[in-house]
Amino acid sequence: MSKKLLIVEDEKSIIDILSFNLKREGYETIEAMDGETGLELARSDNPDLILLDVMLPKLDGFEVCRKLRQEGATTPVIMLTAREEESDKILGLEIGADDYITKPFSMRELLARIKANIRRSKMEESASGTSREGDQIVAGDLRIDLGRLEVFKSGKPVDLTQREFELIKFLASAPNKVFSREELMEKVWNYDYYGDIRTVDVTIRRLREKIEDDPANPRYIITRRGAGYMFTEA
Ligand code: CA
Repeated sequence: MSKKLLIVEDEKSIIDILSFNLKREGYETIEAMDGETGLELARSDNPDLILLDVMLPKLDGFEVCRKLRQEGATTPVIMLTAREEESDKILGLEIGADDYITKPFSMRELLARIKANIRRSKMEESASGTSREGDQIVAGDLRIDLGRLEVFKSGKPVDLTQREFELIKFLASAPNKVFSREELMEKVWNYDYYGDIRTVDVTIRRLREKIEDDPANPRYIITRRGAGYMFTEA
């Protein structure tokens, strides 16, 4: 299957050059000309990699990248920086971009970076035991269907509440990454303030009873004492 690249860039001429060359290399491309649309397409179309300009209308590239990482998306991001400024590169990498390339760039160099970043992210996915296939996340005997908003265990649907589904989706989208209760409260419950974080523990316990063979000895949702929870395939 051809890899899908999302180009977020407000200069039509650059989009045209990029999409022409990328299609010739066998990639499928989708395009957005402002940050907001880019963010929406990144969420809805599950691209294999994002080429993200920094200076964009509505939402700049840094904000787009920051939001995606906050939501747990692990899609590789290459920032397209217009300036040779060190501060831009450092900020980009700090907020979770994987790579950056300075304009004007050579197509050959960009293609090499795209290949390298897609390869690395696929290797990380398979090392984690969790794979993303289109609209679903598969780990062991679990299948999380992001389109149908359903979880299947050994092919049988698991009856989850909406919050339980949101929680497993969030954790499984960033396997092997530990999230504190406060972070989960903020990202999954959308609380800006830190409410009663025991809510997180209770929901985790219910979720384990539904998806784990032995909830006392979980295989998928692991507790990191003093730190929080993470999704893995142990
Ligand atoms: Ca721009």
